[in-house]
Amino acid sequence: MAVWEREDHGQWTCPKCGNVYAITCMRYPSKDRVEISCECGELIFRGNTTRDYDNAFIRKGDPGDSRNNHRFD
Ligand SMILES: [Zn+2]
Repeated sequence: MAVWEREDHGQWTCPKCGNVYAITCMRYPSKDRVEISCECGELIFRGNTTRDYDNAFIRKGDPGDSRNNHRFD
């Protein structure tokens, strides 16, 4: 039986409210529709992917920190 390891994708800072999330994902053998978003409604990631993304809230932050954002694919 295969073991699906959780991958760490670093932190994501919301450009709207500044909330900081830790992004992780699991890889699955089939493509699925994934959508994760900030609690303020700002989209973090949406698309068809074999990765199942998960976002864990870390802290409230400053929207000015959003320059540290990176995209997921
Ligand atoms: Zn937000």
